Amino acid sequence: MAAEIRVFTCLKDNFGYLVHDTESGATASIDAPEAGPILTALAREGWTLTDILVTHHHADHIGGIAELKQATNCRVVAPYDQGAAIPLVDLRVRQGDVIKVGELLARVLETPGHTLDHIAYVFDDDKALFAADTLFSVGCGRVFEGTYPMMWESLLKLRVLPDDMRLYCGHEYTAANVKFALTVEPGNAALQARAAEVAHLRTAGLPTVPTLLGDEKQTNVFLRADEPSVAAGVRLKGAGAVEVFTELRERKNKS
Ligand code: ZN
Ligand code: FE
Repeated sequence: MAAEIRVFTCLKDNFGYLVHDTESGATASIDAPEAGPILTALAREGWTLTDILVTHHHADHIGGIAELKQATNCRVVAPYDQGAAIPLVDLRVRQGDVIKVGELLARVLETPGHTLDHIAYVFDDDKALFAADTLFSVGCGRVFEGTYPMMWESLLKLRVLPDDMRLYCGHEYTAANVKFALTVEPGNAALQARAAEVAHLRTAGLPTVPTLLGDEKQTNVFLRADEPSVAAGVRLKGAGAVEVFTELRERKNKS
């Protein structure tokens, strides 16, 4: 059992992802920012789309669903979005559900905060986490619909996953995230190393994903809101994690 994963750009800075089961030939697109680049990637590989795994209802994650469904008659798997913005859903999923892409297994984690319906997909056997707009590399999503404590809980749900889990996030925001993180933890050696790596990748026109969750635990200040060095970095020595996380997120909003 083995997944092949392809990474490409959609829209301006969304990541497109294809997850392919080499045994059955099944292929899932994680979200559908726009149909064009996804169809191009499928054609390049000679793969047929069988599933779209939707993470949340924002337009930049669902805009391509109708065209892809029309072209391939794929199954659309999605969270229970209260506004029913996600079109053509075949299967609604919630926390703990396990879905199959061919023979590959993906576990659903509810990660509300960015939106209330946000979910992540974890391919445990293949060590791949698709976290969309909850957890970015060296950052996290804006808290639009939920609350700061809710978003912090969602990040903790992802942080307990193993260090060798690869993180595939929703957007290429890593360079800006690194710049912000260095204002909080300028002395963090792992973050400094990541900054150099990200600069190199971006200069070469390469994506900054996937990253290892273990590395994110060392460099992502939003995942580190309960570290004394991060609290001190936002002048909140001794404060609780939620308070520190809130300050981090509000500072980032203004940065
Ligand atoms: Zn979003
Ligand atoms: Fe997004």
